[in-house]
Amino acid sequence: MTEELYLVDSYLKKCRARVISVTQEKYVVLDQTIFYPKGGGQPQDTGKIVKGSDVYKVDFVGKFSGNISHEVDRSGLKEGDEVTCVLDWDRRFKLMRSHTAAHVFASLLNTGTGALTTGNQLGLDRTRFDFSLENFDRSLLKQYIHEANNLFNKDIPVKCYELPRKEALKIPGIIKMAKAFPPNVSFLRVVEVVGVDIQADGGTHVHNLREVGQIQFIKAQNKGKHNRRVYFSLEDV
Ligand SMILES: [Zn+2]
Repeated sequence: MTEELYLVDSYLKKCRARVISVTQEKYVVLDQTIFYPKGGGQPQDTGKIVKGSDVYKVDFVGKFSGNISHEVDRSGLKEGDEVTCVLDWDRRFKLMRSHTAAHVFASLLNTGTGALTTGNQLGLDRTRFDFSLENFDRSLLKQYIHEANNLFNKDIPVKCYELPRKEALKIPGIIKMAKAFPPNVSFLRVVEVVGVDIQADGGTHVHNLREVGQIQFIKAQNKGKHNRRVYFSLEDV
């Protein structure tokens, strides 16, 4: 199993690692990594793996049966190699801002209307957010974006920690996704936006709501019956 450093410290931009295995000359497993593997609506990190003066570009990272596989653009890495991982930090930090923003928006929407999240896809240009809600009211959605922006102007810490599964599941609303079941593990990772939201989550987040900046409503769509979709983007900082 690869040690997932991004869960411990989402601000690590660089780390040392040892190559555990290389498959088909381009799928690399490391003993530890800062690269987030695509999943849970958050795109994978990109960047590079460096060995001496050789640079291997990483464009895709996925998790397959517990192993995090880094797809590199060329052959050359071997089992046992000592390497340095370097993140494309601009990309990752944007995704962290979007991810925390999505939690805050979801929480305001859930508290205000009871809407449950049914899916989401974080992106660099825009974030898509799906939820189920009887009334389709654009002005209400804009209102929640506005309220979220007010919170992003405040010093509100975001904490990530592990809780024993039993204890975590006692927290009301800890599972925000409709039909989502927490993985069968003894500890759940919890992301808490203090006083705003708490949920089980495996993504990367900023440390303080101020770091999100501001978000902008792009559009909302009625996807039939109770399915609604909203898009928002991050404002440049
Ligand atoms: Zn999340």
